[in-house]
Amino acid sequence: MIKFEHRPVRYGEDRIVIGGTVPGIGTEIDDPDGWVWALLESLDGTRTVDQVVADLVHRYPTHPAADVREAIDDLHTAGYLHEPEPITSGGRHQSALALWRWIDRTPGRSAQDVQMLLAQARVTVIGVGGVGATAALALTLAGVGQIHCVDDDVVELSNLNRQILYTENDLGLPKVQAAVQRLREHNSEVRVTGGFQRVDGTAMLRALATECDVLLMAADTPSEIRFWTAAACQDTGTAWVHGGYEGPRVSVGLYRPGTGPCHDCGQIARQHELAAGPAVTFWSPGAGRTRAHASNVITAVTTGVHAAHVTMSLITGAPAVPANGEFGWNLVRLDQGQRVGLDSPLPACPTCG
Ligand SMILES: [Zn+2]
Repeated sequence: MIKFEHRPVRYGEDRIVIGGTVPGIGTEIDDPDGWVWALLESLDGTRTVDQVVADLVHRYPTHPAADVREAIDDLHTAGYLHEPEPITSGGRHQSALALWRWIDRTPGRSAQDVQMLLAQARVTVIGVGGVGATAALALTLAGVGQIHCVDDDVVELSNLNRQILYTENDLGLPKVQAAVQRLREHNSEVRVTGGFQRVDGTAMLRALATECDVLLMAADTPSEIRFWTAAACQDTGTAWVHGGYEGPRVSVGLYRPGTGPCHDCGQIARQHELAAGPAVTFWSPGAGRTRAHASNVITAVTTGVHAAHVTMSLITGAPAVPANGEFGWNLVRLDQGQRVGLDSPLPACPTCG
């Protein structure tokens, strides 16, 4: 039967949209003699494929059985069909299952299959500040099976404008301790663990990467940390994600080693671009004075939920978002910021080349 979430709509007598109007999921179908609409109406879960074919051939003799079977195959391949299943109500993931049916177009895969992939997955979140705390919370609510948090900071008053896992009662506590407790309260089905650790190089990240299916790097210091992560995950073959922001531009990167350009390919290409232009001089008054990192709950949470979204995509393929690059969101114009990355790996990349 047609997935309810993909229920078709007919415009006039000869045009059908199935899968909704979201680009990437919906499709338009021309239907000059109305038989496609008749086919879609009969795919309501009350008949077998053979009965549907017999009925359609009887009503539209100009379309032989092979046409009808091919059309049903096409709908199946496009991910618009599923086996009829009982309508259930209640349950933690009821709404998420409906969304999986909507955004997952893998033929023959059920929403429960997608949810099971999450339940079997292990994600390590490094840095549970603004981005990491949000991502860890989102992944916990979504039902990722195991979440391991790594951080070496304590909760401070200046964190409470954006780090949504913590309350005033947590001030002075290690973030990992407060985060683990709060995440367990949100979903006791998730195995949540924490490590009070400072990431000090590639070797430690390699060890962390071997213990998870996706490594989510939400720490931004020291400045080499993403390069360490790229190198570690290249060695272990672990998919990884980073999230961060520069003022009102938030961005996430997602990489599946061995399937395209790595993080460092994109960074090297960017440096080459800068080097080819005029020399760049930054205005730098008052050197040595430290300033607060510009961020609020909007930039932190927007980045964190995007990082969780692409992490879930790497685990489930639902939806199969583009990988191996960095994607931005401009909060000033409410549109996509620039993309950083290449279409293919740099042959001379020291990390993946
Ligand atoms: Zn590379």
